[in-house]
Amino acid sequence: MPGPIAIVGAGMAGLACATKLSRAGRQFTQFDKGRGPGGRMATRRAEIGGETGRFDHGAQYFTARDSGFQEQVVRWESEGVVARWPAAGEDVWVGTPAMNAPIKALAEPLEVHWTARVTGIAKGEQGWRLNVDDKIQEFDSVVLAIPVEQAAELLANVHAGFADRARRTQSRPCWALMAHFPQRLECGDVLPGGEGDTVPWAARNGAKPGRDGSENWVVHGSPEWSAAHLEEEAESVAGQLLDAFLHQAEVMPQAPLHMAAHRWRFAMAEPVDGPDALWDAEAKIGVAGDWLIAPRVEAAWLSGTRLARAILR
Ligand SMILES: Cc1cc2nc3c(=O)[nH]c(=O)nc-3n(C[C@H](O)[C@H](O)[C@H](O)COP(=O)(O)OP(=O)(O)OC[C@H]3O[C@@H](n4cnc5c(N)ncnc54)[C@H](O)[C@@H]3O)c2cc1C
Repeated sequence: MPGPIAIVGAGMAGLACATKLSRAGRQFTQFDKGRGPGGRMATRRAEIGGETGRFDHGAQYFTARDSGFQEQVVRWESEGVVARWPAAGEDVWVGTPAMNAPIKALAEPLEVHWTARVTGIAKGEQGWRLNVDDKIQEFDSVVLAIPVEQAAELLANVHAGFADRARRTQSRPCWALMAHFPQRLECGDVLPGGEGDTVPWAARNGAKPGRDGSENWVVHGSPEWSAAHLEEEAESVAGQLLDAFLHQAEVMPQAPLHMAAHRWRFAMAEPVDGPDALWDAEAKIGVAGDWLIAPRVEAAWLSGTRLARAILR
């Protein structure tokens, strides 16, 4: 009987992997440093005028091209945790009532350990020793399902081949503005920018399916703009993104009632060629994540699912 597995990361990739292992009856323990389900599909809450506002400040939507992922999306749709968002295009899906809903649905039966940060992994006599919040825990196998820069750090001293693969990939940042306006902006729900624009994407979050229709907006800075302003104060970045957005949207400027900016330092990786998931059956270590395929939700699910398949083989 194979021994227990440690899964580091409970975003879409880690949860897809865990779900498949769980169905096959495999034992594992899953750790995530976050306070709750989301990863880069997180939803931020804010108190605005005595009410709770919600902003999907990471992934905005996802598409489903692979038949296996399409089946998963249909299951989520029947559970009410995703819906189509026609305003953003054909084959465009969002979590309902918030982007993190499918992550929550996957995590719920799996007993993920939240607020559990893995700071080191090392080969022990029998298997793997993980440093989880300054306590050592031992496992037979280990899976890393975390953003590429963080994976590269943990892999550095334990697997030269996988570490090298991770080092060849780099993520681009994204500053995200979350703003609530007192009055409706006179423009459409989705405003994609053009080539070279500071704001390549802005959307009325409150108009997504299953939301309350509130005038909550999410505005993303381009990777180039975000990189150039990476170390600036969030408050200053929020103001600059607001100005760029109102200018690009060509709407009457109005002061938001609430405004905050979030820096995604490792938002989207530029993938390089190679396998969709990494598994070393001898060393019993595996790696999954969007960065092995493409910076998309579907790719994260595929990578995690394929890693589980390799482990079970
Ligand atoms: C601003 C932005 C916009 C995007 N827009 C889109 C879009 O429109 N469409 C689309 O398809 N995709 C989009 N994406 C990409 C999409 O969000 C990702 O491809 C996908 O969510 C990645 O899933 P993942 O599981 O690989 O990684 P993540 O979601 O990052 O999950 C990794 C998890 O690992 C945890 N973790 C990290 N390090 C540790 C550690 N040391 N110990 C324990 N836990 C750890 C984290 O807390 C996190 O929960 C966007 C991303 C961003 C940031």
